[in-house]
Amino acid sequence: MILNEFEHKGIELKGYSEGGIRTSIIWPALNAMFDMGNSNPDQVQYQNLFLTHSHSDHFAGTPYYVSQRSLKGLPKPNIYLPVAIHEKVDRLFKLYSELEEYEYKYNLIPAKIGEEYVLNKQYSVMPLPTFHRVVSQGYTVLETRSKLKPEFMGLKGPELKEKKDSGIEIETTIKTPVFSFSGDTKIEYVLENEAVQKSKILFLECTYLDNKRNVERAREWGHIHLDEIIQNAKYFQNEKLVLIHFSQRYRYKEIREFIRDKVPKELMEKIHIFIPSKKQ
Ligand SMILES: [Zn+2]
Ligand SMILES: [Zn+2]
Repeated sequence: MILNEFEHKGIELKGYSEGGIRTSIIWPALNAMFDMGNSNPDQVQYQNLFLTHSHSDHFAGTPYYVSQRSLKGLPKPNIYLPVAIHEKVDRLFKLYSELEEYEYKYNLIPAKIGEEYVLNKQYSVMPLPTFHRVVSQGYTVLETRSKLKPEFMGLKGPELKEKKDSGIEIETTIKTPVFSFSGDTKIEYVLENEAVQKSKILFLECTYLDNKRNVERAREWGHIHLDEIIQNAKYFQNEKLVLIHFSQRYRYKEIREFIRDKVPKELMEKIHIFIPSKKQ
């Protein structure tokens, strides 16, 4: 399968997203995937998986992924998921394991809204509420950086070293949201989560684009319509807004045309349409 690729300021992401069919976004440097999509042998190598909800276009490949890693003797995958579906998914893996007659090895982590899960010194991940037809949550990656405290700014290297050596804490840490992934949701995911509005990169579902499937219809199904993104443009403080999860009713050409025709210039400058490039 050919994966779409996206890069912004050194953060490289790849994956695929087709509404109702399959969605998975991979951050290779973080050894992480956001949703699993369907069964894809090329994704087995990534150890951290963040699941937004249990709809099959986001989830169905997960038992295969656990099975393959167990079979190949790879380290246990860390699978983060909403607390409310933890037990059911655990039961599902056990049943699969029974059917296959070998042990599935995995860490299933019930990930609480608003809690931070540390991946490494630089990055942690926080689940934030989404609004869909089943239990769901999005994920925001926070970057931790050290910063000199304001009172020590302007001091020279040796002076700073002296302070540090005498036990004074000269640095403070700041956390910034660098990436958010919506999974499936209504627009409230953006309106109610400041960290999502401020994420440098936001991967946001935009299932419907035209007037046949209007805003009301989109909301009824727990999705976002392009018109809602345009109406709420002021909330998007992101550097890049990557639109995913387009309904299968639109051809790639139509997706590009609808967005180009409807979206005002200022918003358009930050939008990236996550579909295969024209050449493919
Ligand atoms: Zn979906
Ligand atoms: Zn869904």
